[in-house]
Amino acid sequence: MPDIKTIGFIGIGNMGRPMAANLVKGGYQVVIYDLDAKRAQQAAKDIGATAATLAEMGKQTDAVITMLPTGKEVRACLFESEGGALANNLPKGALVIDMSSSDPVGSRETHADLAKRGLAFVDAPVSGGVPRATDGSLAIMIGGDAAAVEAAKPVLAKMGKRLFAVGGPGNGHAMKALNNFVAGTAFIAVSEALLVGRKFGLDPGAMVDVMDASSGHSFCTEHVAKQHVVSRQFASGFALGLMAKDVGIAAGLARAIGSDSPLIGMSSALFDEARDKVGSEKDHTLAYTHWEARDKKAAAE
Ligand code: NAD
Repeated sequence: MPDIKTIGFIGIGNMGRPMAANLVKGGYQVVIYDLDAKRAQQAAKDIGATAATLAEMGKQTDAVITMLPTGKEVRACLFESEGGALANNLPKGALVIDMSSSDPVGSRETHADLAKRGLAFVDAPVSGGVPRATDGSLAIMIGGDAAAVEAAKPVLAKMGKRLFAVGGPGNGHAMKALNNFVAGTAFIAVSEALLVGRKFGLDPGAMVDVMDASSGHSFCTEHVAKQHVVSRQFASGFALGLMAKDVGIAAGLARAIGSDSPLIGMSSALFDEARDKVGSEKDHTLAYTHWEARDKKAAAE
């Protein structure tokens, strides 16, 4: 594998921009691309990178990182945009690292399609949101062939504090989706417990305190339920559309491998419905207001 000195970074959004900035701070030459050309030009100026087309990026870099909405955009940038110039122009042995929360089944296909061209692929989705993307302390789940994972680690260490190698290609993306299924489902469970408990006469704040100190403890009871639901601040910083997407990926994975896991499908359906009613860009904790309204409507009927 080539020594990585110059990195192409595609997708300079909320997460990608601070992550690319940390690579520049870490001593790498960074070449950036975004569908929004103005955003790419401005970010290049601000963080000390250069903006380029995908064709130029392919000729100038030994590794490419994608931080895009889904695996669909990742494949479009690699194989379709500018006539597939990025994958065609990258030097043999170059490494592609997809840090987006992509579908793991599609990522295995991307890995195979890149391997046919002599290119390596690692999936390395992240957890931690914009604050931890900014201070370089993301948790990163890495899937890929052993040599590619080793080559990716020094680059990933500039953006994350905890790196978990979780197996072969696609495993990082599967791990990310399953983690968010567990976190999202805990949020649904706590929301329903609050709705039932409040109706019966329990105090919601006291309920969260008890669950947090008991076996009902979760990330939700520690960081989300009181701060954003009971307080009705609804400002956790993680969008409902992203939560619905991640849990949907977990549901798709379960279907694709023929797993009998009914809760994943139910959780995905509940978030999809809430996203359609509340709005994709809204905070995911606002899903509670939809379930609350549904509960009130059911009681009135
Ligand atoms: P974002 O919408 O802020 O940024 C996406 C960027 O990709 C935008 O700049 C957009 O212009 C660009 N883009 C879209 N399609 C493109 C294409 N075809 N070619 C080139 N550029 C394109 O999204 P984000 O919040 O930065 O999230 C990126 C990924 O990280 C997603 O997969 C998301 O699920 C994941 N993620 C987000 C968070 C979070 O808290 N925001 C946390 C963990 C993981």
